[in-house]
Amino acid sequence: MTDSTALPDMTWPELMPGWVWLCGAGPGDPGLLTLHGLNALRQADVIVYDALVEPAILNWAPQAEHVYAGKRGGKPSAKQRDISLRLVDLARAGKRVLRLKGGDPFVFGRGGEEAQTLVQHGVPIRIIPGISAGIGGLAYAGIPVTHRDVNQSVTFVTGHDQSGETPSSLDWKAISKGSQVLVIYMGMKHIAQITAALRRAGRATDEPVAVVTSATTCDQKVLETTLGTVESDIVAAGLEPPAIICVGRSVLMRQVLDWQAQGAGAVPRNLDPLDRGRPAESA
Ligand code: SAH
Repeated sequence: MTDSTALPDMTWPELMPGWVWLCGAGPGDPGLLTLHGLNALRQADVIVYDALVEPAILNWAPQAEHVYAGKRGGKPSAKQRDISLRLVDLARAGKRVLRLKGGDPFVFGRGGEEAQTLVQHGVPIRIIPGISAGIGGLAYAGIPVTHRDVNQSVTFVTGHDQSGETPSSLDWKAISKGSQVLVIYMGMKHIAQITAALRRAGRATDEPVAVVTSATTCDQKVLETTLGTVESDIVAAGLEPPAIICVGRSVLMRQVLDWQAQGAGAVPRNLDPLDRGRPAESA
């Protein structure tokens, strides 16, 4: 193993006192943090982090104060407005503030709201994107979020709205018709309503579905199922959030691309899961 913790040679931005950097930590595996993220960790005085941030990542910033602002895990939940104003206060106190969020800060992470509040209060910000669970998490399950033979578009959907209910504002019919592959965040609680809405909108009962929980972490689990059986299979498998739910035929690609199984000596289940009957790379 090489010591790969040193930052490569380039001019790295400096986190100045009074600034807040909003940074995505990636879906779990600490190696999926970006170099800009690592640069930020090294400089922060205080890190305000969410529940979905892997603890190992925080260990890379021993000099910083670590403030938990998550909304899970049995700990008291911090209100969104309180978190944003806390960031404002820390910045005004002259701290170098790192706001660390799971995945990408601007994907279903309320990063936009926090950034808006900071700007409204005159606090300078920088945004450091991260690998979102809906892309990186599926990749760790061997599911390409787009695949030429399957989809020309992909739709990212949230299964919750601000009230915690299935987003009633979502036009499931349009979503269902508009995209061959759907990637659903926060979908576990309302999986019954979501699958019912998709089936009503015309998606087939036997359409492939994957549920990837704690993606990219040591606890990652992948359930392969169908739209008709996903709800009962989640219960049978005892799966818990966080989960990414992928609906569409790209899920079948896992039969050949489940790269994590290789280490365990498994052979691909099917080299041509889409049954194209031609070499994968022909034009
Ligand atoms: N900003 C994050 C999403 C935050 S919303 C991102 O870009 O990934 C929280 C939801 O993200 C969870 O309910 C779950 O649907 C998904 N999620 C985040 N991390 C995950 C992980 N490691 N495995 C599976 N799903 C995850």
